[in-house]
Amino acid sequence: MTAPASVTVRVPAKVNVQLAVGGLRPDGFHDLANVFLAVGLYDEVTVTPSDALRITVSGPDAHQVPLDRTNLAARAAELLAARHGRESLVHIHIVKDIPVAGGMAGGSADGAAALLACDALWGTGAARAELLDICAELGSDVPFSLVGGAALGRGRGELLTPIEVTGTFHWVFAVADGGLSTPAVYRECDRLRTQSPAGATLADLPAPEPSPALLDALRHGDATALATVLSNDLQPAAVSLRPSLTATLTAGTEAGALAALVSGSGPTCAFLTKDAEAAADVAEALIVSGTCRSVRVTAAPAEGARVLR
Ligand code: ATP
Repeated sequence: MTAPASVTVRVPAKVNVQLAVGGLRPDGFHDLANVFLAVGLYDEVTVTPSDALRITVSGPDAHQVPLDRTNLAARAAELLAARHGRESLVHIHIVKDIPVAGGMAGGSADGAAALLACDALWGTGAARAELLDICAELGSDVPFSLVGGAALGRGRGELLTPIEVTGTFHWVFAVADGGLSTPAVYRECDRLRTQSPAGATLADLPAPEPSPALLDALRHGDATALATVLSNDLQPAAVSLRPSLTATLTAGTEAGALAALVSGSGPTCAFLTKDAEAAADVAEALIVSGTCRSVRVTAAPAEGARVLR
């Protein structure tokens, strides 16, 4: 069999329908109960043999994406190559549609996609377990980008259990001008907590647990029930660092969204709606409100990273 000339993988963004953040661990991470839902906004990553590891990016936010070895797609190629005793001589091209530094795991998505693409290009034949292992080494959100659908992430988010979902949930995403750094948002979360009676360390806070009502709502495809239990412990910190998000969240709620929340570490805001028609109305109102840079309408769950060609 001849090796393919190039491989393209499509990979989805995510929203956290529950992000329960436990106390600060001695290793600097937080224990999480992280309910991931993959949404239908995608990056496409194409890998082609080359004489050196090279990254190019296209799309409206391309200028914000690093082109050096800190790019998670480059790191994924290097990790897979090192494990299989080969060189990472590949050109990685990313067509970037997922907002950058937006709390939607765009970098993680590209890491998972590049890993899958290089595995197919090089004929490495890595087992799923090995790919997941490399994903966890790349970052807490990367394993979920590979599997997609819906899953509970424990530990720092990388220990995944699939979650059953029925039907389709309709979402609108309000993309902000400029990103937020995930570590900065966690630091702000700890800072706000040290000022509250609950404190910020493991000893102060109970272990984070997934909400049974939320898991039920996903299992039954019940958007109205899901709307009442969406939660994100990072939201106060994201809003503290970017107070203008309050106006965005209010604009979507007033336009008829069932619920509004900050997506992960933000600053993208997510709005759950009853159906596709309501999503179009909320999107229109958000554009008119002038409280965000752009608006995206999509549905969930989406499948994980997948070879397109
Ligand atoms: P998360 O939701 O996982 O916390 P995020 O969606 O907020 O992440 P990313 O889009 O992953 O944020 O970008 C965070 C930072 O990661 C960027 O500012 C950039 O410096 C770096 N980065 C590394 N690789 C990539 C990539 N392939 N695409 C985008 N950013 C990347």
